[in-house]
Amino acid sequence: MFNKILIANRGEIALRVIRACKEMGIGSVAVHSTADSDAMHVRMADESVCIGPPASAKSYLHIPSIISACEITGAEAIHPGYGFLSENAAFVQVVQDHGLTFIGPTADHINMMGDKITAKDTMKKLGVPCVPGSDGGVPNLAAARKVADEMGYPVIVKATAGGGGRGMKLAKTAAELEMAFSTARSEAKAAFGNDEVYIEKYLTLPRHIEVQVFGDGKGKAVHLGERDCSLQRRHQKVFEEAPSPAIDQETRDRIGKTCADAVAAINYAGAGTIEFLYENGEFYFIEMNTRLQVEHPVTEAVYGVDLVREQIRVAAGMELSFRQEDMIPKGHAIECRINAEKVPEFRPSPGKITQFHAPGGLGVRMDSHMYDGYSIPPHYDSLIAKLIVEAPDRDAALARLRRALDELVLDGIDTTIPLFHMLLDAKDIHTGDYDIHWLEHWLESHK
Ligand code: ADP
Repeated sequence: MFNKILIANRGEIALRVIRACKEMGIGSVAVHSTADSDAMHVRMADESVCIGPPASAKSYLHIPSIISACEITGAEAIHPGYGFLSENAAFVQVVQDHGLTFIGPTADHINMMGDKITAKDTMKKLGVPCVPGSDGGVPNLAAARKVADEMGYPVIVKATAGGGGRGMKLAKTAAELEMAFSTARSEAKAAFGNDEVYIEKYLTLPRHIEVQVFGDGKGKAVHLGERDCSLQRRHQKVFEEAPSPAIDQETRDRIGKTCADAVAAINYAGAGTIEFLYENGEFYFIEMNTRLQVEHPVTEAVYGVDLVREQIRVAAGMELSFRQEDMIPKGHAIECRINAEKVPEFRPSPGKITQFHAPGGLGVRMDSHMYDGYSIPPHYDSLIAKLIVEAPDRDAALARLRRALDELVLDGIDTTIPLFHMLLDAKDIHTGDYDIHWLEHWLESHK
C-alpha cells in the first residue's frame, strides 16, 4: 500500500480523497493555487504545496508543478478526483514515466473512452447497446444529410472529443441540419481543438441512467447498479438518485452484467461509469467516464461501499474487496448538487460565506469545502456542496432531503438551494416521473 498520496484537485472532491487516505492510514498531500491558500483541502491534508497562480492552466492543470510536488513531498501516487487532469491520458503517461502511480485506469483506456467514436465502437463490439447513428465520424454536410435522412429526424450532432455538454447540437428537421452541423463543429474545434463530429438519433423522452463499474485490471469486474441522473440543466446533472425509480431488479442485473462483462473484457482497472439514455425499456450507450463521478456518493449509500478506498486499493495492485453476489442495493439515496449560482439565471455568485451550518442526523451526508468566513474564489467550478441523503425507501429519502435542506444554512452568497426546496414541491419528483428534459421545462414554467 502507498505511504503517501497527492491529490491533484481542490474543493469537495479533494476532501473526499483526503478522508479516504486518513481512514486507510495513508499520508495526504494537497496541492493548491495561490487563490486556494485558505481552502479546506489545504487545511485538512497532512501536507500542502502551492503549485501556481489562480488560473487552472497554471496550477491544477500544470503537469510539471504537480509532478514536482510529488518529488518534493515523496508522494508515491496521484489521485486526480474528477475534472482537471482526471481524464488526461498524457498526464497518466507522465505520472508513470516518473515512477509514480496514477489512481485510475491506464492511458490506453482513457484514450479509448475519451474519443466518443472509438468508445462507441468498442462498446458495440462488446455487446453494449448503443444509440443508432453514423458509422464513425461524419466528414461533411453531404455525409451528414445522408445519415440523417436514412435514420430519420430528429438527430443530434456530437463532437467526438466532447464533454461537459459542449459541441452538441440538435437538428429537429432537415432544414436545421446545416446549422447544427457547422455550429457543433466550430464549438468542438474551439473547446477541444478537434472538429470531428458524429451523428446520433435524438431520443426524445429518455432518462439518463448510468451504471457504476469497477475493474481489477486483470479481467475481473463488478457492477454497482445504476444512478438516475435525468434531472439536468443544459446537459449538466443537478439531482441524482440510486436506485432509479424506472428500473427493476431484473433490468438492473441484466444491464449491470452487460457493463461488468464489457469492462472485464478490456481488463479495465478502477472505477468507471457507463452512461446510457433509457427510453421505452431500452438502453442506449452514450459514453463512458473513466474516473470517479461527482454523484458517486449515492452508490456508496445504497451499496455500503467506499469507492475511493477501492480505487486506491486497486491502484496498489490489490484484489477487488467486493464480490458481485454481495452487491445488493439497500434503501434509496438522493444527491443535490449545490452551486454558488443565483437562480433562476444560474449566474455564478462567488463571494464570502458569512454563515455556514451543515445539516446532520441519521442518513445525511454533506460533502462540502465550505466554512464560516470562507471566500469562494471566482476561478473555478461553482459546485460548493453535495447534500446526500439515504433512507429505507424513496419517499423516506425525499422527506429526509426536505428536512436536511431546512437545516442547512449557507449565507453571504446566492446558491441553488432554493431550487431544491421548490423541486420538492413538484408532484413528478415524488412519483419519479421525469425525463432528461423535465427540469428545463419546469424551470421555464417557474420563471
Ligand atoms: P457530454 O460528454 O458532453 O456530457 P454526453 O454524450 O454524455 O455528453 O451527453 C450529455 C447529455 O446530452 C445526455 O445526458 C443527454 O441529456 C443529452 N444527449 C446526448 N446524446 C443524446 C441523444 N442521442 N438523444 C438525446 N439526448 C442526448
